[in-house]
Amino acid sequence: MADKLVAVKGMNDILPGGVPRKDKLPDSAIWRWFERTVDTVMSRHGYQHLLTPIVEPTPLFVRGIGEATDIVEKEMYSWHDAMNGDALTLRPEITAGIVRAMVEHNALYNGPLRVWSIGPVFRHERPQKGRYRQFYQLDVEALGFAGPDVDAELILMLRSLWLALGLQIGTHVRLELNSLGQPAERAAHRAALVAYFTAHADELDEDGKRRLHTNPLRILDTKNPAMQALVEAAPKLSDHLGEASRAHLAAVCAVLDAAGLPYRINPRLVRGLDYYNLTVFEWVTDQLGSQGTVCGGGRYDGLFEQLGGKPTPAIGFGLGIERLLLLLQEIGVPVPTAAPDVYAVLPDAAALPPAMVVLDALRQAGLAVQMHAGGGSLKAQFKKADASGARFALVFGADELAQGQVAVKPLRDAAAAQVLRPLAGVAAWAPELRNA
Ligand code: ATP
Ligand code: MG
Repeated sequence: MADKLVAVKGMNDILPGGVPRKDKLPDSAIWRWFERTVDTVMSRHGYQHLLTPIVEPTPLFVRGIGEATDIVEKEMYSWHDAMNGDALTLRPEITAGIVRAMVEHNALYNGPLRVWSIGPVFRHERPQKGRYRQFYQLDVEALGFAGPDVDAELILMLRSLWLALGLQIGTHVRLELNSLGQPAERAAHRAALVAYFTAHADELDEDGKRRLHTNPLRILDTKNPAMQALVEAAPKLSDHLGEASRAHLAAVCAVLDAAGLPYRINPRLVRGLDYYNLTVFEWVTDQLGSQGTVCGGGRYDGLFEQLGGKPTPAIGFGLGIERLLLLLQEIGVPVPTAAPDVYAVLPDAAALPPAMVVLDALRQAGLAVQMHAGGGSLKAQFKKADASGARFALVFGADELAQGQVAVKPLRDAAAAQVLRPLAGVAAWAPELRNA
């Protein structure tokens, strides 16, 4: 036998439920259910679907995300195209590509847009539970809106999504909120931070020392316990916010208060990407260890200009799908199963042509039908029918077929009797087989 090939480290297979697998990652049934739920919630809020390429020019991310961020410094899969030398990158997030697309097509010409996308993103990180090298994001953007109305709408939309998925606010996920103000306010804060950390330079770790001169705001984001006290006492951006920035945050909070959504203002919430301003938020959980951020986002009013477009206010978020599904799995939310309505049992090969005609008609009538393929004993076929979760078995026995009929056998209700149904006029009796 040839050598077995395995997936790239940190990149996972999403397999159907019920099959053996090496890891404990969520199966495709829960993925599909998540995607259907997202679809519903998005259309209820007027968000439209879009897709952008997985490969983008490297400068898009260097300019968009910022040179001194973890992503651009060390997490990108970048290479030079072998044919023409173009600098290319597997997208590490989706926002920059969407903004590029909007600018490229002048897509906001007729007015602002609400959009969403789902797809893989790539980051060269150390793989662990909830942290992978290929993972999937739900990315949602409100483009061309200055807020604070859409800021609040976006956050409340996430609450709707959590509730639709069976998560409890407060117990399973909670909201953290902050304002990053405007660039001038951040510059004043940055100067105060640099002065403060310079005065305490001997207490900074390796990363901190480096960031002091590249991106001092990111020191606040440190996960090093030894630096917590130092960071706690650092100058706060909130002390540098002007009237307009405060009012923007207050307006978002007023909606959340009215909607009864609890939140915590976290002055340390700065987010890992450079492009944010004003409203930033994260939905966090305590149930996934250190991979506790399920979803994070914020306003990025400067990004369009940075990427060569006209000034365009916008806000959005990225949600890590694996992390969210692990959370759902962890707390055991019930996932609707995709059991067929009907399982077709074919006692002998001669039954196949007439059976297939009936099954086709049932499917056209909207039923989910699983046909037993590959032959085998009646007993074995009924075992499969049972395991499929179907409510009925259709048994295409030779005697019934000879009389133009098929037997409908209830599988879940021991008291219910088997009945015969005509092969012709399937549409008349199909509805009685549909799952409740
Ligand atoms: P973290 O602080 O955990 O590294 P991040 O700030 O880098 O997260 P974002 O860039 O905001 O994350 O991405 C949005 C979401 O994508 C995160 O909230 C998280 O749920 C998910 N995510 C980020 N990195 C990974 C990863 N390597 N594997 C799986 N999910 C991830
Ligand atoms: Mg990260």
